[in-house]
Amino acid sequence: MGRQKKSTFSGTCKICSSIPTINSHLIPEAFVKEIFFHPKADEKHMLVHNDKGVKLQSNTGRYAPDLLCGKCDGILGKYEESALALLKQLRLVKIGTKTGTTSHINSGTYRFRVEKVDDFVRFACGILWKYASLPEDNPSVIKVGHFRESLELVCFHDAPVPSTIDVFLERDLLSVSAFDDPHDVFYYVTPSVDVVDDRRMIWFSVGGFIIYVKLDNGEPSDFAPSVCWMRGRKKCHFNVSMRALHTNTGIVESIHTARDDLARLNRKILLPQRGVR
Ligand SMILES: [Zn+2]
Repeated sequence: MGRQKKSTFSGTCKICSSIPTINSHLIPEAFVKEIFFHPKADEKHMLVHNDKGVKLQSNTGRYAPDLLCGKCDGILGKYEESALALLKQLRLVKIGTKTGTTSHINSGTYRFRVEKVDDFVRFACGILWKYASLPEDNPSVIKVGHFRESLELVCFHDAPVPSTIDVFLERDLLSVSAFDDPHDVFYYVTPSVDVVDDRRMIWFSVGGFIIYVKLDNGEPSDFAPSVCWMRGRKKCHFNVSMRALHTNTGIVESIHTARDDLARLNRKILLPQRGVR
């Protein structure tokens, strides 16, 4: 996964204090490359934070130097690989019908199994830990307060997932309905923190799904049907709800903001017509 590129900085690993650190991809490179039309054609993409007026060109996604050594980054890599395979498999689940530009979505919960309990929860925690560990002035940083420590224990030290933390998956319906092939992936969304029902809920989007992570105390909220919460389960369910269209509504604006840049950056690559309808 291209993980062994040494960082040009001289910090120590935030987990084991060893040197050197490497450039750790924030969103794993394999998830970033899923959005490319031609994985080998050196396609470029844009990272857009409309709320912060930030627009950045990217090749394989942003990475952080001075965060992790190769060994500790590899611990997350294991969870990332299994999450990539799982989401690829779940994207093939038929959740409705599509004729031309008209989609009919069957809302509800869809059953699936995971090979190892909590591996996906640990994957989600790893992504949040990286974004929570960025310098304050990084436009992608998220603030999770003392929960950063819990995330660290779960994703680097194999600690049991505490009852405060839980995760559920929701199919990204914008991706399903707005583009030609519902099984393909067209964008990813870096983590955002929101407060839902007085609880901190963090969401990000990769592999055609929105991944919601709950960090605060208490039982899981009714934000998802109770069967969808994944902690401690082998038999799982993902959610299909029209709400997903609202969650990723900012994407439409970002695609428009980046449209000209993408055409300019990739002019040597013949891109099929792609757009939001
Ligand atoms: Zn380390």
